[in-house]
Amino acid sequence: MDKAENPYLLLTPGPLSTTATVKETMLRDWCTWDDDYNDGVVQDIRKRLACLASEQHENYTAILMQGSGTFSVEAALMTMMPRCGGKLLICANGAYGERMVSIAQYLHLPHIVLRESEITPITAQSVEKAVSDNPDLTHIAIVHNETTTGMLNPLDSITSVAKRHNLQVMVDAMSSFGGIPMDMEKSGIDWLVSSANKCIQGVPGFGFVITAKSIIERCKGNARSLSLDLFDQWQTMEKGKGKWRFTSPTHVVRAFQQALNELDMEGGVAARNNRYCENQRKLVEGMRQIGFKTLLPDQLHSPIITSFYNPESPEYTFSQLYHRLKKRGFVVYPGKVSVADCFRIGTIGDVFPQDIERLVKSVEEEMFW
Ligand SMILES: *Cc1c(COP(=O)(O)O)cnc(C)c1O
Repeated sequence: MDKAENPYLLLTPGPLSTTATVKETMLRDWCTWDDDYNDGVVQDIRKRLACLASEQHENYTAILMQGSGTFSVEAALMTMMPRCGGKLLICANGAYGERMVSIAQYLHLPHIVLRESEITPITAQSVEKAVSDNPDLTHIAIVHNETTTGMLNPLDSITSVAKRHNLQVMVDAMSSFGGIPMDMEKSGIDWLVSSANKCIQGVPGFGFVITAKSIIERCKGNARSLSLDLFDQWQTMEKGKGKWRFTSPTHVVRAFQQALNELDMEGGVAARNNRYCENQRKLVEGMRQIGFKTLLPDQLHSPIITSFYNPESPEYTFSQLYHRLKKRGFVVYPGKVSVADCFRIGTIGDVFPQDIERLVKSVEEEMFW
């Protein structure tokens, strides 16, 4: 790790601490018309993303999209919904579920919302009821790891309800893809969205949508925006063999390819998941030992990010804890939950169990309340 260049480790859900070798690949420039880039980098990434998404990778295609993760969520929602006759069920138990609701409102996508509190998982039973009460539904959208809290929604039981009712399933797997094993085909996921700067450990600048070739083929003309038209982006990437429609973030894309190499070197998604789980286990164990409480019970937790209650002492402020930890080389994350006073610590990125041990020790030594 390049501590010399990074004054602190980002314990955040992305952008996150990346390796020096990922950042070094950004030192050269690329021509967006040349095969070295289109075939050598873009097509390679697209193939490898499809392989990460399913054992049946030949049935899937990965479409890269400029912008942060939200741009890809918006592109996917609007390209998958037909202009007429579609209706979307959005499951929301946190800020990222609510963001999909905002997107549906902006775009006038016919939709209903299945809303739970931020500390309640979406269950198959509640989805079953919503779907039975609304037979005109055609699609369902759900966040896998709700980064708001760190809650992992029970994807497989929800997709099996959706499949029984013939609904297409769109998953915001932004903060889980690459860090938690999943298979789109086995889990019945039709659209999966993630981005460069989360569990694959690239730098920020683009997102991607993975879907079945047989599905995207039928989405021509659905998009309500030119720059976020995923069908058009897909056609250009297919016909131009890795060509993006508009300027692509070349350096970021090359860095992402290196991040994929490093994911392979680590032993793939299963090995990365083990490291994240170990990070999170050490974090929760250590923080509990020094008196902190987690927002969620262990069984609802992802290994990605953990919410802790702020201590109730009058001397305590999060801002003071934040600045003290920053001086010691760790950046933690404020809370995003509306129902409780929390802060968050991420356990993804180029972060290892020894780093977490140092963090917990620093928190203990800095206790000022
Ligand atoms: C990070 C994240 C996003 C995308 O956020 P951006 O700020 O647009 O990159 C969407 N959904 C979830 C669950 C996320 O964690």
